[in-house]
Amino acid sequence: MTPVEQLFTAFNTTADLLKEELSCTYLEALAETGENMFQGTVLQDELNEVAKKRLEKVYKDINLEAFSREDIRKGFQLAILKGMKEHVQPNHQMTPDSIGMFIGYLVNKFIDKKSFTLLDPAVGTGNLLATVLNQQTGKEIDSVGVEIDDLLIRLAFVNANLQKHPVEFFNQDSLEPLFVDPADAVICDLPVGYYPNDLRADTYEVKVKEGHTYSHHMFIEQSTKHAKDGGYLFFLIPNGLFESEQAPMLHEFIKKHLIVQGVLQLPSSLFKNKQAAKSILILQKNGEGVAAPKQALLAELPKLSDGPAVNRMLNKIDVWFQENKTTEK
Ligand code: SAM
Repeated sequence: MTPVEQLFTAFNTTADLLKEELSCTYLEALAETGENMFQGTVLQDELNEVAKKRLEKVYKDINLEAFSREDIRKGFQLAILKGMKEHVQPNHQMTPDSIGMFIGYLVNKFIDKKSFTLLDPAVGTGNLLATVLNQQTGKEIDSVGVEIDDLLIRLAFVNANLQKHPVEFFNQDSLEPLFVDPADAVICDLPVGYYPNDLRADTYEVKVKEGHTYSHHMFIEQSTKHAKDGGYLFFLIPNGLFESEQAPMLHEFIKKHLIVQGVLQLPSSLFKNKQAAKSILILQKNGEGVAAPKQALLAELPKLSDGPAVNRMLNKIDVWFQENKTTEK
């Protein structure tokens, strides 16, 4: 068995057992078993001795210290995917690895500080955040994750603990006032849809005069508010972001507060259909010494399985960096 398979098996057998014993869902049980593994003990007092012994045996046999963070992330991710099949949650899809890896690569390229802060205001299961963090080798990063769904944030919390990532979590609506310090970088797989609270939306610059405002537009505004001057923002956006009837307000907001560094269209093979296809939007918040690139980085990313095409793209991005990165970091 590969290390990821060993980890998945440990998460899976113990989550199945807890699901039965506690009469809860698989994902709830997964959060419980992850917490047990992190604490090194069985925390559920209501369990009978036999169940407790069976769990302890699995925990004893799997030595987390022997695995890399990426192995732990992938093993946990496989178990989450299994749980999500049981309960389909259309608005709670985990950010796929290939996209997370690419955002991680960009964060690495754009931010060359040795220590920085990172915010994900729609952290979900924490998979995107962990994928990005695991690629920033030799850097010290304090992160903040915000998520409205209490089960997802529990999974994100366990995920971060098992991988020993210092992350502060807030279980709340990110579009309500956020009490977090401005971050050097924001990453977000934007939740797309209408925001139901018009009173709150009224406090946003991207609000529409009539009807509900798009929550993804509000997320961009809120993220900008919580980024430092000169900070970078990496959003996973629907391809039609700038073409909707609400787009003029977003354009206005971006023009006033941000610089577009790039838009990278992801390969359509990653998505169910053309309408679902997404891009990565790279923005920088205005600030002293921040200048627009001579030309924004615009590209269509190749299929990630096409090695030579990916290499050509990475070279193209390198050339763009040499020609355009005028800002001091
Ligand atoms: N990157 C995440 C991951 O890897 O698991 C997935 C993000 S998912 C596409 C968007 C997330 O935004 C969902 O988990 C959803 O619950 C959350 N969300 C939606 N509206 C929100 C709000 N107003 N405040 C906080 N979180 C919200």
